[in-house]
Amino acid sequence: MRLRLGCLLALWLSSTSIGRAGDTLLLHDGRRIEVDSWWTDGALLIYPKYGGTIGIPFASVERVIDGSDGSDRRDPPPASGAVRAARALPPAADSPATLPVDALAPIQPDPPGSEGEGSLARQLEALTALARTDIAARPAAEERMAKVLTLMGNEALRAGDADAAVAAYERAVGLDPSLAPAHVNLGVALLEQGRTREALSRLQTALALAPDQPDALVHLGEALYRDDQVREAIEVWQRAEALAPSERTRARLEKAMREQEVGGEYRASAGAHFTLRYDGTRAEPALGSAILAFLEERFDELVSRYNSLPESVLVVILYPEREFHEVTQTPQWTGGIYDGKIRVPIGGVRVIDERLRRVLVHELTHALVAAKSRGNAPIWIQEGLAQREEGKRSSATTSQHLARAYRLSGGSAFAADLDYASSLAFTEHLISQRGFGALLDFLARLGSGEGDAAAFQAAFGAGYGETLTAWGEALARTAS
Ligand SMILES: [Zn+2]
Repeated sequence: MRLRLGCLLALWLSSTSIGRAGDTLLLHDGRRIEVDSWWTDGALLIYPKYGGTIGIPFASVERVIDGSDGSDRRDPPPASGAVRAARALPPAADSPATLPVDALAPIQPDPPGSEGEGSLARQLEALTALARTDIAARPAAEERMAKVLTLMGNEALRAGDADAAVAAYERAVGLDPSLAPAHVNLGVALLEQGRTREALSRLQTALALAPDQPDALVHLGEALYRDDQVREAIEVWQRAEALAPSERTRARLEKAMREQEVGGEYRASAGAHFTLRYDGTRAEPALGSAILAFLEERFDELVSRYNSLPESVLVVILYPEREFHEVTQTPQWTGGIYDGKIRVPIGGVRVIDERLRRVLVHELTHALVAAKSRGNAPIWIQEGLAQREEGKRSSATTSQHLARAYRLSGGSAFAADLDYASSLAFTEHLISQRGFGALLDFLARLGSGEGDAAAFQAAFGAGYGETLTAWGEALARTAS
């Protein structure tokens, strides 16, 4: 995402976090936006979404409806306060790139059977021994092992370890190929890993075994949507909605339908690594080819720098300005977005210009960082790297503001959460201190399921808080 946050640092020093999880923003134009958190920065109200942050003029907010008790906070948010909440934000609820596990919740098989005492690992061990020693008992034992393995896969998936989950589910379907929940959940875990095509085939198998299973339909819809089969995704989600209505599915369905509505007349042209869609009635075909050529050129370069190859073709959708904001529900001045697909408003642009180049590289970087970290990268590094790749460099003013913030903080809780400009500055700092390879190591560790804190410590040789403090000290020394 690319935000033009004009005087972002102007109020950096008077920052307080004021949003609450579950709040709803009611805008003057009648739109309602549910947010996990929000804060203000100058004239903007900012909230996390699509794995980044979105700012809207807070003059456009009529009121905030308090998520905890449903009461209205009558006043628009105060104009002071700034910059908070980026580090431990949950992934945006409807960002396909980073659907949280509970959005793709694995389903439970029936209980594995009467010997279900003790931990799953112990049950598995006992059943394995039984299957090995008692030929007559083997078929029943293996059936139960498949269920135990599915439950173990569910635990791994909930703990964020998609690799372990895939391994467990694969063993489960090997032992009992008719166990539909194992196929569904294998599909879910593969989706978590960005292996869309394999997920599709698993989910189709699951539906052949258990037709009209609503969870299988919901996940199949997700796989189709990510594979850019939007029309098919809509059909499948509609079937799921008819069988078992759910708010989340309805939201996904509505987004897909908005996309289908404005995307209906879009033309596709495929490069080696991209599918590009654009409004054929307004955009110059030459612009489409120029964009594809540019993306392919930068793709090779970025893939070798990040040592990360997305497992599916990247979908890039170019929108006329208005349709872009309708589909993405973003404010007018958002430059682009990566939510599993790269979406860019091109307005009346006829030839590829500097602004468009920067937006494309920025969003492409998001796609590669998401692929490498399997959607687990904190926002500061996503936005830090994306800005860096598009050619931005931190300004002296940012350093001065940060140095001042450090002195005022007395060293504690300095930059506990990073905004857009300081994300870039911190990313640059890490590169200068530890080298770009350390950042890649961090992303790879996140991708293999390590937690934020452990991955940071291992990649940079110091804790996150400790590193921030050392950075603040260095900034304060340089500035004085
Ligand atoms: Zn961004």
